[in-house]
Amino acid sequence: MERHQLVVIGGGSAGIAAALGAYENGLTDILVIEREAEYGGILQQCIHNGFGLHTFNEELSGPAYAEKYYDLIKDNECIRFVYETVVTKIDDKIVTVQSKEGLRQIAADAIVLSTGCRERPAGAIGMKGNRCEGVYTAGTAQKYLNKEGFLVGKKVFILGSGDIGLIMARRMTLEGAKVIGVAELQPYSNGLARNIKQCLEDFDIPLYLSHTVESVHGSSRLESITLIEVDDHLKKIEGSEQEIECDCLLLSVGLIPENTLIEELGVKIDPRTRGAVVDDRYMSSVEGIFACGNTLHVHDLVDYVSIEGRKAGKSAADYVLGRLSDGEVITNSVSNGVSYMVPQSFHKGRDLEFMFRVNRVFKECSIHVYGQGLDKKIRKLGIVPSEMQKVMLKKEELEGLTGELNWEVVE
Ligand SMILES: Cc1cc2nc3c(=O)[nH]c(=O)nc-3n(C[C@H](O)[C@H](O)[C@H](O)COP(=O)(O)OP(=O)(O)OC[C@H]3O[C@@H](n4cnc5c(N)ncnc54)[C@H](O)[C@@H]3O)c2cc1C
Repeated sequence: MERHQLVVIGGGSAGIAAALGAYENGLTDILVIEREAEYGGILQQCIHNGFGLHTFNEELSGPAYAEKYYDLIKDNECIRFVYETVVTKIDDKIVTVQSKEGLRQIAADAIVLSTGCRERPAGAIGMKGNRCEGVYTAGTAQKYLNKEGFLVGKKVFILGSGDIGLIMARRMTLEGAKVIGVAELQPYSNGLARNIKQCLEDFDIPLYLSHTVESVHGSSRLESITLIEVDDHLKKIEGSEQEIECDCLLLSVGLIPENTLIEELGVKIDPRTRGAVVDDRYMSSVEGIFACGNTLHVHDLVDYVSIEGRKAGKSAADYVLGRLSDGEVITNSVSNGVSYMVPQSFHKGRDLEFMFRVNRVFKECSIHVYGQGLDKKIRKLGIVPSEMQKVMLKKEELEGLTGELNWEVVE
């Protein structure tokens, strides 16, 4: 059977970085398996700029960022990419792949999962009405437009103010469509502040906060939607309905880490992130299986995906080469405003970075980190759910800690 030191599943930004990280740390036989015909993942359909400010100190488009990162490994003989090849199963450390040549199995000493995430579809949000043509997820519309040159509608309404929805509001407008508005269920936007300004305000596109789409109307093609206001408890307010004519509804209502492969393998999944539970080495509950990028938790910036991928690749190399250190495990616990924490557990002995999101908008507040042997408050001027938060704790700060580390927001 074909065998490699490391198999990386998914050749998006996380997978490319993981391969680089593994090579930099001593692996010489790395295979990256990608189902599409090219590397880069979601970046290839994101033709707007705004990628790579932290990594390359430049504002690149998605494809340009992917190319620039891929350039770091493209002539490396220790890293091989195979395309149009789908991993259909992981069993222990043997992956089953399907390609034009048929099914085959590949063995690995370690596996990095970097399969990205998928969009929540219409079925997941319980919208009433016919299944008429004209309702798309925002990412699908983006792929049609940016990769195939096909505009999915002319009079567009967007549900969900996450970044993909906001980017698509501007993109559809630039291509000649009329974007009537963007509705958001929460009383705040789920997108980055810069995208609200550059994609909505600059184009006079209204944002309806605390609103949702109650129903869609149309027989074969979408003709209109009913917009409805919600109260503080997200309950629909009767009598606030308004009908809006449109031929297209784009849904940007959340992203879900793509984890089917490891769920089947029995890897422990965090119900909060919907990604694998990992330790500070990005190793999952199954030894030798690592996860990074959007498959682990949905990131806001690609730079952080690349950094995480590189670290996961390093850990996979340490594992394969028998250098992975062990020791006492501390568990992270979240409450009061902190919605998740990655990694979910960690070993002491080095400086560590923790990533999390909050579950609502906080103005001036502190992140309270405490446990036996550590009590620290980190002041924040304001935090929002759309922006991933990062906190670095020094090796010395973690030294006396035992048991559990708690995280909360204090106003
Ligand atoms: C619309 C949009 C706009 C964004 N805008 C910005 C921005 O302006 N600035 C910024 O910094 N970040 C932005 N981001 C975020 C950033 O680009 C992503 O978080 C990052 O690129 C995700 O990388 P990934 O490798 O984790 O996932 P992906 O890019 O999704 O890569 C996963 C790869 O795995 C492959 N795969 C999946 N399953 C399998 C399988 N079973 N077998 C083989 N291959 C498989 C997929 O084909 C894909 O290539 C944006 C994201 C989106 C969606």
